[in-house]
Amino acid sequence: MTDTADRATSTGDPVADVKAWLADNWDPDLTVADWWERLGTSGWAVPTWPSAWFGKDLSRAEGVRVQQAISDFGALPAPGGLGLMLAGPTIAVHGDDAQKTRYLKDIVTGQRAWCQLFSEPGAGSDLAGLNARAVKDGEEWVVNGQKVWTSGGHVADLGMLIARTDPDQPKHAGITYFVIEMRQPGVEVVPLREMTGRALFNEVFLTDARVGDDTMIGGYNNGWRVANTTLMFERTSLGAGGGSAAASLASPGQIAGDLGKRAGDFVASGGRRGGGGGTLFGASSKGLTQLAKGNGKAADPAIRQKLMQLHTIGEVARFNNLRLKAAMQAGKDIPGLPNISKLLMSQTVRLSRDVGLEIAGAYGSLHAYDPDSRKALDEATGQPFLSGITEMALFAQGPPIYGGTDQVQRNIIGERVLGLPKEPGFDKGTPFKDLPKNG
Ligand SMILES: Cc1cc2nc3c(=O)[nH]c(=O)nc-3n(C[C@H](O)[C@H](O)[C@H](O)COP(=O)(O)OP(=O)(O)OC[C@H]3O[C@@H](n4cnc5c(N)ncnc54)[C@H](O)[C@@H]3O)c2cc1C
Repeated sequence: MTDTADRATSTGDPVADVKAWLADNWDPDLTVADWWERLGTSGWAVPTWPSAWFGKDLSRAEGVRVQQAISDFGALPAPGGLGLMLAGPTIAVHGDDAQKTRYLKDIVTGQRAWCQLFSEPGAGSDLAGLNARAVKDGEEWVVNGQKVWTSGGHVADLGMLIARTDPDQPKHAGITYFVIEMRQPGVEVVPLREMTGRALFNEVFLTDARVGDDTMIGGYNNGWRVANTTLMFERTSLGAGGGSAAASLASPGQIAGDLGKRAGDFVASGGRRGGGGGTLFGASSKGLTQLAKGNGKAADPAIRQKLMQLHTIGEVARFNNLRLKAAMQAGKDIPGLPNISKLLMSQTVRLSRDVGLEIAGAYGSLHAYDPDSRKALDEATGQPFLSGITEMALFAQGPPIYGGTDQVQRNIIGERVLGLPKEPGFDKGTPFKDLPKNG
């Protein structure tokens, strides 16, 4: 699928190659859709994927360098979101060729946006206890049940759905992984408003919704294994910085995507070379140090200490990710490291919240919910970054929960890395239908 002529002119240095390719191809006046079509079909959107499937067979470390090069060049990076971060890699591992053809191109070119329909009101940490049911009907399956915390469900074209297909099997064994069209009569998406004021995630009610046999990824009753592949990609990506390697300010998808807009309007430089930049805070010790200096708090010993802690944890996380990448590049693995990375990310987020609020002082108790009010608040308090801090502080509760809570990460490390005994339970061999259910 990748442009073979492009590979033929390879210098052997992916960064030099992508720069040369960008010099020939980046055009800020293209629409986002046209640019992503160009980038995605060239193999540079996800260069770590196989060259047969829109990639360039690069290692993870090389992939990160390529993404950095695209960003440094000032071109719009690959589409962000759960398609590229979770669905694509999962389908690349477990999908058949027809499914790869059907889904991967639309992911790398940002044509369709995805959401993850895993969690349910009674099944989060205990995901295998899920109740959504898929029942065979000819060449289709009829799905009934409820999902919750579905990030981006309101703007998704497609969903990664796990549903129970055989309640006579033990709970991990009777689950199947499907791709579901979100825009169909049996799918109702209800946004949930967060304390930040935004509504990023949703409840999704499935009432006689339909999925085809041909959307089953990884085979009948094999969904637990496939879901774990998705979760592994999620942990690795979150621990490495929330999938930022593939982040793009433009949104993919047919519903709220930016496909028809000018590509250059989504990069810091307006599309001219030499752009780049980044967010002030995120969870960055440098951004917060800058802020402490600006607010006259840089000499406060308690704040200095926290900034140092933040910097230290950030460096430990960075080195861990480098170790993991190097191990994977050598075809090895470091068991538990994705879980440790995710725990470090949680710690970073909490500490950033605390030090950010300490720097903001009493102003940190004020928050604005829309762009105009934010501007007014920033002006009234003379704290131009206040809404950035309070937004980050209010959202900081989320990352330690999604992708598996901190407690769940520790359970995994305890059992799989340290070899501690598993939690006692009788649910592994008992048919799901005979298990006691959550209220
Ligand atoms: C911002 C955000 C976005 C999300 N996006 C999505 C999404 O797009 N798609 C999706 O499917 N889900 C999503 N989720 C859901 C998320 O995966 C779940 O919230 C998470 O798995 C925890 O499940 P739960 O909320 O049911 O909590 P529970 O599982 O009920 O846990 C409650 C508490 O009990 C602890 N606990 C549970 N079991 C154990 C155990 N065995 N040992 C020790 N402690 C335990 C937990 O750590 C937690 O503190 C999102 C969540 C958030 C916060």
